[in-house]
Amino acid sequence: MNLHEYQGKELLSSFGVRVQRGVVADTAEKAVEAAKKLSEETGTSWWVVKAQIHAGGRGKGGGVKLAKSLDEVKSISNEIIGMMLKTPQTPPQGKKVNQVLIAEDVYYPGDSEPNEFYMSVLLNRATGRNMIMYSTEGGMDIEAVAEKTPHLIFTEEIDPQLGLLPFQARKVAFNLGLTGTAYKEMVKFVSSLYKAFTQTDSSLFEINPVLKTSDDKILAVDSKVVLDNNALFRHKDLAELRDLREENEIEVEANEAGLNYVDLDGNVGCMVNGAGLAMSTMDLIKQSGGEPANFLDVGGTADAKRVETAFRIILKDENVKAILVNIFGGIVRCDRVAQGVVDAYKNMGDKINVPIICRLQGTNAKEAKELIDASGMEIISATEFQEAADKVADVLK
Ligand code: GDP
Ligand code: MN
Repeated sequence: MNLHEYQGKELLSSFGVRVQRGVVADTAEKAVEAAKKLSEETGTSWWVVKAQIHAGGRGKGGGVKLAKSLDEVKSISNEIIGMMLKTPQTPPQGKKVNQVLIAEDVYYPGDSEPNEFYMSVLLNRATGRNMIMYSTEGGMDIEAVAEKTPHLIFTEEIDPQLGLLPFQARKVAFNLGLTGTAYKEMVKFVSSLYKAFTQTDSSLFEINPVLKTSDDKILAVDSKVVLDNNALFRHKDLAELRDLREENEIEVEANEAGLNYVDLDGNVGCMVNGAGLAMSTMDLIKQSGGEPANFLDVGGTADAKRVETAFRIILKDENVKAILVNIFGGIVRCDRVAQGVVDAYKNMGDKINVPIICRLQGTNAKEAKELIDASGMEIISATEFQEAADKVADVLK
């Protein structure tokens, strides 16, 4: 589950991580109120208006702008709220901006130059340990840094039993070239950040940029926080931060129906039981010249009701030109699934307007095929994996 920048910053702040302060607003009027309030609290006279969407690269897309007066706060907020913001991380049509974060300007002039760093905390799957990844090259596209100057990206792995040790936090600050107050601030920043990461059961923190201000404070200017869905049951307060407007509508609906569904770009809808079978079915579809439109695991109980819900969900995607049902009957009997498919097809009447290729294999596969062939429905049955894929290719021609 992703958080908005402003939610991530509130979370970090509650663990003692210093952040660029801000107030969220959903209208230009509230944005001006937010700016006034912020000035009272921080003394800032310039503000940054930041679009709140679940995607990075907002700055380049015109979603982060500096305002030097309350009038500018108002006009920029008016421009950004409601816009379809396009960044390299959004869908091609962009994402609608519902809120802006009015933040204090932290790039003020002073004794030294402000300096941007990159920092993330994540699991290194190869070693099974959390690591802090950081770089002197902050503020910009970290993928480009990784490609062109990989030696400028450092990693620090953390032993799960010992936790982050003080010398490790000091090493991070040292490698970032900091001294004096900024060095001490960075040690504290890294320690609090790691504590926040483990205590919230997060799967990713990405702070880009981490800023050294001109008066040697270290703070988070941006925040990307991804929480582990599987741990949300023990963070009820965090679960409430979910913003369904940011999520794929069909995925949300499927989720509520207890189906494991991921929306993809292709033209062949898949209904499969078991994640492994779903993956190989998607491979097969690609091999036969189609593109999977989704990943859908109906799970162990593929009865008529579930199959019908799955059909409805797959058909919401207008790109779907064919549906491949590929079910292995291990615990669930194939004839029961076949009955489910036939019943669902009957119930849905003319709503199913694309060919269905149905492959049922395993317990009672023969009975299942007979049931489908005798149903009089326009369901193409297949027994073998490749045969099913060929039949999909045929209907796509
Ligand atoms: P992203 O583009 O989605 O990653 O959004 P960020 O929150 O990282 O902001 C993008 C850029 O806006 C940063 O890299 C900064 O250069 C700039 N920015 C953010 N806050 C301030 C600020 O307080 N003052 C100024 N002048 N620039 C800022
Ligand atoms: Mn950023």
